Amino acid sequence: MKPDYDIAVIGGGLVGTAIAYGLAKTGQRVALLDEDDRARRASVANFSLIWVQTKGLGMPEYADWSRGAADLWPQFRDEIAALTDIDLAFTRPGGFHLCLSEAEVEARSSHLARINAQPGMTPLPYEILGHNAVREMLPDIGPEVVGASYCPLDGQCNSMRLFWGLHTAFHRSGGHYLSRHRVETLAAKDGGFIAETRAGTVAAGKVVIAAGNDSGRLGAMVGIDAPVRPQRGQVLVTERMKPFLHYPTITVRQADEGSVMLGDAIEEGDTSLVVGTDVLAKMADRARRMFPGLGNVNIVRTWAAQRVMTKDGCPIYDESREHPGAFVANCHSGVTLAPRHAQTLAPLIAASRVAVELPAFGTGRFDVSTVH
Ligand SMILES: Cc1cc2nc3c(=O)[nH]c(=O)nc-3n(C[C@H](O)[C@H](O)[C@H](O)COP(=O)(O)OP(=O)(O)OC[C@H]3O[C@@H](n4cnc5c(N)ncnc54)[C@H](O)[C@@H]3O)c2cc1C
Repeated sequence: MKPDYDIAVIGGGLVGTAIAYGLAKTGQRVALLDEDDRARRASVANFSLIWVQTKGLGMPEYADWSRGAADLWPQFRDEIAALTDIDLAFTRPGGFHLCLSEAEVEARSSHLARINAQPGMTPLPYEILGHNAVREMLPDIGPEVVGASYCPLDGQCNSMRLFWGLHTAFHRSGGHYLSRHRVETLAAKDGGFIAETRAGTVAAGKVVIAAGNDSGRLGAMVGIDAPVRPQRGQVLVTERMKPFLHYPTITVRQADEGSVMLGDAIEEGDTSLVVGTDVLAKMADRARRMFPGLGNVNIVRTWAAQRVMTKDGCPIYDESREHPGAFVANCHSGVTLAPRHAQTLAPLIAASRVAVELPAFGTGRFDVSTVH
């Protein structure tokens, strides 16, 4: 069968759409196969951070990859704005991880020291600050904030606009978005790939599996073992407030339109999207202790969502050895890494150079038979 497209990307979340946009820019005929508007997507339920300071323990390459992504963000913001007129509300003032006890400061400090002590690590610029130093930059913190880590590389954006901007940029670059095309089966055939979808068959020369938590199932059909699992997170959103929080923190940040987002939960083994009031209450309480002014505002929205989590928390990018031309891309920082996916990963996929250029991110690291 003659392929309908040069490349089919499966999954229209932030990861798949960034890659599809990058591929369309290289002149490939690209189809983006997606579910419908009611699909579960981490991409429309996240915290909008562009975050570097926690990345890379156990894999220094991931720290460099994240840092490079953050460095690409200003140019990427301009590129998307020029193509789509969509402002991604990107700012990079640096970010804080606030601590409410000496033990939390100690844990934070030792975590960052361990990241920086790794062989091959480009030193991460950061400071551990006491209460007074934090208050100089975040005047509204409460007395219970003992200290914080601060990293000047961190930033934030409006991730709903990122989602919209990537889809618009993909469309304007000549890509074909196929909604309601959930891929049921995927098979290698005649040097290409056949995707059987709910809306018919799609044939492509190459395929990129970026289907979030469905990637493991699809990968197995083309010889890729990419273990991912859902990991639940929850977010609370306040009514709009006057601008007071000029730096993002990892659990509290003020969005460009004024509302404050609170997010602090990491929950394993619960795949539902129903919010849990016990967890939300703890998150709200910690946020109020960090910023007492939040005690007087209304919560107007809450949600639960599922992260796409790999076994070691680091991204997976690889090409099938059994069926070359089939690729997988998964990560749990699809906001942060969007410029990398569009500008670095997509050209490597087009050139079939992923396994050669990005070996650290390959699935081989999960294969215990290769550990000596
Ligand atoms: C609470 C929370 C907070 C987060 N905060 C941040 C943050 O601050 N910064 C950051 O960088 N990241 C953050 N993330 C992570 C970020 O949202 C994800 O890395 C990113 O959204 C993952 O995108 P994805 O495209 O891989 O997956 P998803 O968004 O889940 O999208 C998967 C897509 O694949 C489609 N799909 C699934 N199966 C099929 C199939 N069989 N056929 C066709 N299509 C299919 C789905 O419909 C969907 O469109 C957060 C995540 C959560 C949950």
